[in-house]
Amino acid sequence: MAQTRMLKFVTVPRSMPEKRTADERTADFDEIYQEYAAEKAAEQAGRCSQCGVPYCQTHCPLHNNIPDWLRLTAEGRLQEAYELSQATNTFPEICGRICPQDRLCEGNCVIEQSGHGTVTIGSVEKYLTDTAWVEGWVKPIAPAAEREESVGIIGAGPGGLAAAEQLRKRGVQVTVYDRYDRGGGLMTYGIPGFKLEKDIVLRRIAQLEAAGVTFVMNCNVGEDISFAEIRGKHDAVLIATGVYKSRDLGGPGAGLGGIVRAIDYLTASNRVGFGDEVPEYDSGELNAAGKRVVVIGGGDTAMDCVRTAIRQGATSVKCLYRRDRANMPGSQRETQNAEEEGVEFVWLAAPRGFTGEGSVSGVRVAKMRLGSPDATGRRSPEEIPGADYTEDAELVVKALGFEPEDLPALWNTPGLEVTRWGTVKADFQTHQTSLEGVFAVGDIVRGASLVVWAIRDGRDAAQSILKHFAACAARVAAE
Ligand SMILES: Cc1cc2nc3c(=O)[nH]c(=O)nc-3n(C[C@H](O)[C@H](O)[C@H](O)COP(=O)(O)OP(=O)(O)OC[C@H]3O[C@@H](n4cnc5c(N)ncnc54)[C@H](O)[C@@H]3O)c2cc1C
Ligand code: SF4
Repeated sequence: MAQTRMLKFVTVPRSMPEKRTADERTADFDEIYQEYAAEKAAEQAGRCSQCGVPYCQTHCPLHNNIPDWLRLTAEGRLQEAYELSQATNTFPEICGRICPQDRLCEGNCVIEQSGHGTVTIGSVEKYLTDTAWVEGWVKPIAPAAEREESVGIIGAGPGGLAAAEQLRKRGVQVTVYDRYDRGGGLMTYGIPGFKLEKDIVLRRIAQLEAAGVTFVMNCNVGEDISFAEIRGKHDAVLIATGVYKSRDLGGPGAGLGGIVRAIDYLTASNRVGFGDEVPEYDSGELNAAGKRVVVIGGGDTAMDCVRTAIRQGATSVKCLYRRDRANMPGSQRETQNAEEEGVEFVWLAAPRGFTGEGSVSGVRVAKMRLGSPDATGRRSPEEIPGADYTEDAELVVKALGFEPEDLPALWNTPGLEVTRWGTVKADFQTHQTSLEGVFAVGDIVRGASLVVWAIRDGRDAAQSILKHFAACAARVAAE
């Protein structure tokens, strides 16, 4: 029987008892916040017009049944709303926190389109699943029957984990291999903790472990174990390794100290958040405290770097981008958040080189203007001659995007076909690669993308792997 929840206003007590422990104060806050969140979720869900043309659903990569779970939320039928929302999403509380909703569901909400402000779909989704964890509605993964087939998944990011969950539910024996010490991929070591709390991610991994998924951590496939060995151990293999090769910058002074890669900077910051020892952070190499920081790039990774630098206590944080605000690849919402936190954006500015002796002291900046549109219709930036100047900086973070590593070479598997961009070639629908029984999902197929797309791929690939097993069994039976 689904539980309903009465929503009521709460008033904050005028005077609190004087001596309260931090834990008691946190409990008070949690209680008050929970009521506020419930109120907000119901209010927002009630704004959904049930328009009948659910563009929000169409533009959600998981095609979540948003209108129905919003209606249930508005009616206070939270458990039913949660059940519906989790039916199509492996990690709804994660997507609710970090999907760029302005480009997906919320950006296509009919109410938003008519100028009245979107229903905050992501916040409702987050609230529903957070509540489900608190109320014990999130059920353990319990396969009805065990199967003999086993799948080796390389990469414990959202793509690999979503596939692991779907396969384990069907009783498949699943082993996940990852080169890091913790699972979660970029959800754990890329995305900052102020956007996605790490216990939210680790709780999902613990749930998979409890369901019988085996995690082999600190295991770099290609070094600690060969790809061929993994193929030999399992009936099918899923490649979900993401993209980690950072695009680099050349020019005079590019090798100076204090010029670092975004992934190293963010990983260090996340490790510090876990309480790990991070010598590069302690030495100041990957720490913005007390420094003038320049971040180069205009995507979401750049936004994460500038916001992290602010939190680390940088004296100033500037973001250089070679196009203008309207042409930025990053989310406008993230840019606004960064601005509100004190980040200065320097538009139409491209790095030409770096100044300094041993360590960086500044970025030589070429001022740009937007020229004529290129083949894609996007206006190309071109330099304004004689307008160069220097931005002072003791820490420069390069956030120019990521490319795939050369997996066929690293894994000594030339038969694994890749595209001209180096991403693994996989069938759009089945996720099957050029190798029999080997599938691939997420960023390693799409190029740098989104968590929600990796989840979608992982879920779909799990279904393809099950079909592959059925086809193998039919073949054996026919022989
Ligand atoms: C800084 C940053 C911020 C982001 N913010 C957002 C956001 O706010 N919202 C959003 O939707 N998306 C965001 N993204 C993108 C999102 O994180 C990725 O699209 C998503 O994580 C891709 O999932 P994946 O499973 O394909 O790969 P990943 O999450 O990259 O996971 C791949 C895993 O494979 C492992 N691996 C790689 N090679 C090997 C090997 N040889 N052997 C063993 N293990 C291996 C890695 O250690 C890693 O754990 C962000 C990305 C970055 C870099
Ligand atoms: S998964 Fe992402 S796009 Fe889909 S409804 Fe949730 S927040 Fe929106």
